[in-house]
Amino acid sequence: MKPEIRDQRPETKDRGLKTGDRRRRLENAYLLLLWNQARRRVVVGSLGRIEFAPGFYLYVGSGGANAVRRVQRHLRPDKRVRWHIDYLTAGSGRMRPVDVYLYPGLAECRLARAVAAGRTGIAGFGSSDCRCRTHLFYSPDLPRPPKPAARG
Ligand SMILES: [Zn+2]
Repeated sequence: MKPEIRDQRPETKDRGLKTGDRRRRLENAYLLLLWNQARRRVVVGSLGRIEFAPGFYLYVGSGGANAVRRVQRHLRPDKRVRWHIDYLTAGSGRMRPVDVYLYPGLAECRLARAVAAGRTGIAGFGSSDCRCRTHLFYSPDLPRPPKPAARG
């Protein structure tokens, strides 16, 4: 089964641009949902060896204007390992991608905060360039994607 790429554009009354919105407008966050069939240990670059329990992992990223291309890269097993998430999505033994949700105009760290609610995560994963604790979260059961507000 091939994962669909779903548009999760938040419904907002106010689509007008305000000061400071220019950069935010280019942040197209996405949520990649992965299924880990069995417990595994993976060396994730500088983070070292991490143990992944069976279940679902939610990865929050952003691709700016190239969000769809970035997401398609995550779904391809053949690639050079470059980002933390690549350690989980490359090669034949990868975690299986289940779904992808796009959040046009939403900042990835805002999405990460929404996904973090009530969940544990892998510290430092995908969050080297921001102040979030992590951008990878764990769910023992199939999670519902959040619908965060565009701003506020
Ligand atoms: Zn962040």
